[in-house]
Amino acid sequence: MLDNLTQRLSRVVKTMRGEARLTETNTQDMLREVRMALLEADVSLPVVRDFVARVKEKALGQDVVGSLNPGQALVGVVHKELTSLMGGDLGPEASELSLASQPPAVILMAGLQGAGKTTTTGKLAKWLLDGQHVHNGRKTGKKKVLVVSADVYRPAAIEQLKTVATQVQADFLPSDTSSKPEDIARGALDHARRHHYDVLIVDTAGRLGVDEAMMREIRALYDLLHPVETLFVVDAMQGQDAVNVAKAFADALPLTGVVLTKLDGDARGGAALSVRHVTGKPLKFVGVSEKLDGLEPFHPERMAQRVLG
Ligand code: GDP
Repeated sequence: MLDNLTQRLSRVVKTMRGEARLTETNTQDMLREVRMALLEADVSLPVVRDFVARVKEKALGQDVVGSLNPGQALVGVVHKELTSLMGGDLGPEASELSLASQPPAVILMAGLQGAGKTTTTGKLAKWLLDGQHVHNGRKTGKKKVLVVSADVYRPAAIEQLKTVATQVQADFLPSDTSSKPEDIARGALDHARRHHYDVLIVDTAGRLGVDEAMMREIRALYDLLHPVETLFVVDAMQGQDAVNVAKAFADALPLTGVVLTKLDGDARGGAALSVRHVTGKPLKFVGVSEKLDGLEPFHPERMAQRVLG
């Protein structure tokens, strides 16, 4: 995950730590290296520019000048800014799933077809069923979870969700492809209420590209379900394209978080940083395997530490 970025940045960090003196030249060199590393990792240009400008500003300011080891201090600035870029600026609880509501807490899954929505629905269900959910740093116990698919266009998608649900032993509510997505959602909400589910996860239809009809449909589901979490699922392998898709979803829906999938692949991972920046929403989870236990909560601080080596 983000291996390339890690390799490059840790090299910069090593060099900088060894610098007893900070000069215009070595600061510029370091900033250039950071910029290159981020661009190569697929972080989008505006995000990179913004990032480098912030580091530069801090580097020239009190944070670094006059410190005992300026190289080390500069690394500290990069670390802080990277944590912030990854969502650390939103506070430690931002990457937690927020389920505080009158049960059932509804989680709405949004994203393009193939992004990993159905797989992530299964992974999340498992995570909740296993009692992995954390609130204010504490596990909140095992949840009773119901999953449903509002994808009436692809019967195979409904079947896939059923398979995934069976594997993780989550309850699955069958959907009738002749129903409207809103009716399915309404029915699922009613079922979840009557049977005292803690969480209802609604998987939705994805299209190959962003289109208006799709956005209208998911918006209608949002209005009806009042989800506590609306998660935008995005494939890390999408690279730069992910930014545009993220923007379209963020404009259409009040997203609460992002799930970045397929970080186990050879994705350069920089999309993670851009998507967070573009949507203004925290990355809550990353998908790190096709298997249903391949979901990890995202921690900005830890990730920044890892990337800087
Ligand atoms: P959906 O169309 O958005 O519901 O996407 P799917 O859940 O069907 O996922 C599309 C493909 O990506 C499937 O083959 C999944 O097994 C795969 N996939 C999803 N998440 C991950 C992940 O985190 N890592 C890997 N390697 N594959 C994933």
